[in-house]
Amino acid sequence: MSTTPGESAPWPPSLSEYVLKVHSRCDLACDHCYVYEHADQSWRARPRQIARETVDAAAFRIAEHARERGTRRVRLVLHGGEPLLLGAGGLAMVLTRLRAAIEPVAELDLRMQSNGVLLTPGLCDLFVEHGVRVGISLDGDAAANDRHRRFANGASSHAQVRRALALLRRPEYRRCYAGILCTIDVRNDPVGVYRALLAEEPPRIDFLLPHATWVDPPPRPGGVTSYADWLLTIYRLWVRDGRPVDIRLFNSLLATAVGGRSGTEVVGLDPSGLAVIETDGAWELADSMKTAFDGAAGIGLDVFQHSVDVVISHPEFVRNRRGLTGLCQTCRECSVVGQCGGGLRAHRYSAAGGFDNPSVYCADLKKLIVTMNREPPETALAAHPSHAAGDRLLDGLPAADLLDDLGTGQGSEASLQRLAAAQLAYVRALLVQIADRVAGTPFAAAWELIVRLDEEATDAVSATFAHPYLRRWARHCLAPAAGEDPDWGYLGALAAAVAVRAGVDTDIEVPLRAGLVHLPGLGAQAIDAPGERRARLSVTGGGFTARAGRSVVTVPPAGGSSPAGWVPVHQVELDGWTVSIDDLDPYRDCYQWPVTGRLDPAQLASWRGSLAAAWTRIERSAPGQVAGLRTGLWTITPLRADPGGRLRSAASRDAFGALGTVQASPDSLAELLVHEFQHVKLGAVLDVSQLYDPTYRKRLSVPWREDPRPLEGALQGTYAHMAIADIWRARPGDLARQRHRQYFRWTERAIDELAGTGALTEHGQRFVRRMRQTMDSWSDDPR
Ligand code: SF4
Ligand code: SF4
Repeated sequence: MSTTPGESAPWPPSLSEYVLKVHSRCDLACDHCYVYEHADQSWRARPRQIARETVDAAAFRIAEHARERGTRRVRLVLHGGEPLLLGAGGLAMVLTRLRAAIEPVAELDLRMQSNGVLLTPGLCDLFVEHGVRVGISLDGDAAANDRHRRFANGASSHAQVRRALALLRRPEYRRCYAGILCTIDVRNDPVGVYRALLAEEPPRIDFLLPHATWVDPPPRPGGVTSYADWLLTIYRLWVRDGRPVDIRLFNSLLATAVGGRSGTEVVGLDPSGLAVIETDGAWELADSMKTAFDGAAGIGLDVFQHSVDVVISHPEFVRNRRGLTGLCQTCRECSVVGQCGGGLRAHRYSAAGGFDNPSVYCADLKKLIVTMNREPPETALAAHPSHAAGDRLLDGLPAADLLDDLGTGQGSEASLQRLAAAQLAYVRALLVQIADRVAGTPFAAAWELIVRLDEEATDAVSATFAHPYLRRWARHCLAPAAGEDPDWGYLGALAAAVAVRAGVDTDIEVPLRAGLVHLPGLGAQAIDAPGERRARLSVTGGGFTARAGRSVVTVPPAGGSSPAGWVPVHQVELDGWTVSIDDLDPYRDCYQWPVTGRLDPAQLASWRGSLAAAWTRIERSAPGQVAGLRTGLWTITPLRADPGGRLRSAASRDAFGALGTVQASPDSLAELLVHEFQHVKLGAVLDVSQLYDPTYRKRLSVPWREDPRPLEGALQGTYAHMAIADIWRARPGDLARQRHRQYFRWTERAIDELAGTGALTEHGQRFVRRMRQTMDSWSDDPR
């Protein structure tokens, strides 16, 4: 089963990525399909499905090559036609045999590209069992997708594909969700396509230029740079959104702009490292070559007779991988060749010059690259520091619903989830800026780990990024106070926290502060290593071992018995509400009042009792606040008591999901929680929507303070007092009636004051009008 590479042949770079065709037919009949509808028709002569012997031979060749070259990780994509046509039994056979042969030699990264039509929970279970990540093809909303992706009888496949994506979004299958592959049709609205894809919450989007050559150029209804213009519309939106999803084409071009690798054969000068194995065992070049001419992908080798070394020494394969030297003169002299790389090789084909041409998408690629280089994400984000992430919430989505819901002074679970999602996007955008700053430094390793984990364990990354005090750290790093250094090392703590949550093994350096290693949102471990400022963390199976100086401490996974010195974030379980008491985080001190130190056991027990009693009061007297608090308030940070005994509480625009308060009687604590949570909610709304003219400088007089307030302060106070009026409305007795009237009048007057400024935007007017309507509905109250 082995062959010998020519004695004098150079030793080509090893191969670590393979596409295995497991079924050569498809249940769809897409008219843009390069397998069936383009020049190459070799599929007609192939077996419909791969045979067991072919799987074994392919697995043997891959393992053999990995062993000989010492390759540690092999990526293998199951492909078709449509791979799901193989059925659960056939796929289980393929996966079991591949793993048995390859995993003893190298880590196996199994993928599948599918149209999704036949995906079922049973198949997803199989993919979970074997660690297969599935990419689904979807071209946008129903109209966009139906343009090409139809069944042979012309029927739409959109509903079936969306059902498959909904399956992959389920928590139990989310880890199998690799992303969406979207073939561009410039007749589709780019904004609509982007929004439709984003709504499917993919970890990654791959935009594919439709396969074309100089012989058969692509349609250009919008002019010579139709594809660049289409993609740039999405690029600008994506940047403004805070890059909420990995769009491979954009990220590859951004990486190559600073000398990095593109990670794809589509752009850049990375040597193509991909070989295809057809259902009959034939070795082939990348599938895209099929678009050039009949047989363009074939190299006349097969897995039964030829090793991977023979494949990668084949002249066509070598030509495919030649990088700069494989390009035509025009490309070699092009100013953006390092980023473009002449595009996909298949797109360079012409009848006269073969592949010795620039890409048929040359004008598009050049315009896309030059424009992206001129408008890098940092610039765009810096120009819109606070609205970058959130505009997507209100731009194109039903903003009115959100404002109308929160304008009642309360807020549904759905609204709070949307605010949380916008905050998460904002934090991600800040982290991307931090990644840009640490590129090329030792801290970049932590970011690279986070990026990798984001692909493998998106939920763990999102849960870690939702930690309320992360935003404060990120802003501190990006704009440190005079005399302070950015705390880049905290990136390591962040990556470690993700790895612990995800149960992914890794080894990383983290900061040691005052003898504590902090894992954001989880807790901290004390290490006795005087003078040390860094520790090495080995994360294994959800636990970790920390080393600093001569000290070594091992913390088992959650549920195991904790060693001395492990300080978890305290969790309080109330009736349907889980909240943390955070007296630990190094960035929690972001309020106008100082925070306490670590609570002792008696203080903690007392806090637990107070919160339980306050929550009961809220459920009774402010039931409309319950859903919002349950969804959007995760962390309470104890504040130091006022020496004069006055109540203290605070919220911070940089800490969505958290507030600070002193301990108080149940009724008072209930009011403080509701009052501050109003500020949390409104702060998040202001992050995503301009409610007033920011150039408005006049101060407003408000009934609860003697000094006039800036417009935003007046709006915040009005919104908070409205909720307090609501609480007193529900309480019994004369005192409650008096209080309700007082807060009601204050709020009413302040609303008049706000409405009279003429400085509210359309969204602001809508929001304040809704507050007014809600108050008016209370006026009917017999109180
Ligand atoms: S789903 Fe994929 S393989 Fe099937 S016809 Fe469409 S493009 Fe071709
Ligand atoms: S932009 Fe055009 S000329 Fe330049 S490398 Fe790309 S395909 Fe070649």
